[in-house]
Amino acid sequence: MDQRAPIATLSGVTKIYGTGETQVNALEDADLSVYPGEILLIEGPSGSGKTTLISILGLLLRPTRGDVFVRGERVTALPQRELPPIRAGTFGFIFQGFNLFPALTAEENVAIAIKMKDPRVKHANAEARRLLVAVGLENRMHHKPGDLSGGQKQRVAIARALGGNPPIIIGDEPTAALDTKTALGVMALLRELASVQGRAVVVVTHDPRLEKFADRVARVEDGRVVSVHEVDHTKAA
Ligand code: ADP
Ligand code: MG
Repeated sequence: MDQRAPIATLSGVTKIYGTGETQVNALEDADLSVYPGEILLIEGPSGSGKTTLISILGLLLRPTRGDVFVRGERVTALPQRELPPIRAGTFGFIFQGFNLFPALTAEENVAIAIKMKDPRVKHANAEARRLLVAVGLENRMHHKPGDLSGGQKQRVAIARALGGNPPIIIGDEPTAALDTKTALGVMALLRELASVQGRAVVVVTHDPRLEKFADRVARVEDGRVVSVHEVDHTKAA
């Protein structure tokens, strides 16, 4: 896997929140690369720096020190105003709480996200329907979030993250609110997106049961990436 070019890389990334007595060293000298077609799990205790790490990777947050590279370009060298289009064209985000608009249908939720990423898009609703079919929601396009199950809502959120075809999907505990069967279904879908479409999928999780879907696991402890290992799928779980 490592012979391939990474699509995004963190190099020596440190994040310090606040100053003085309230200062928190959330991340220290983190190195991590993400490769096309892989599922990379980010595991570690609560407060260890996982959300900070993926927020910096996804260009939602600037590191205090260190660099972020996207397709080989050092984006930390760019001015802030140049980041939103790079972020929109590179990353799709899936959150634990779905973050869907309750008054909008599944189709509208996905379409509005597509338009926000690129206001010039002509056929956002048709694209939204295509993505909802891809996540298995062809019969739920016109339902509002309140009429969908947790797993269906998370599928809408995945369809939304896929809007604009970003090469990297980032999930922050996307299965935490789901029961086991639904969580495994969501992971199987993400596995397919990685394997079939070559997307990189980076998922923060507490749940070791998700490892069977992953190619690699990065372990974060106390602000440090303490290990990155490939998952051995020949061993029984
Ligand atoms: P995790 O996602 O692994 O639970 P986080 O990245 O959210 O960890 O947090 C890492 C550390 O940074 C924690 O000590 C947390 O309290 C702190 N932290 C996170 N965000 C902020 C913030 N905006 N301001 C101050 N401290 C923060
Ligand atoms: Mg977190």
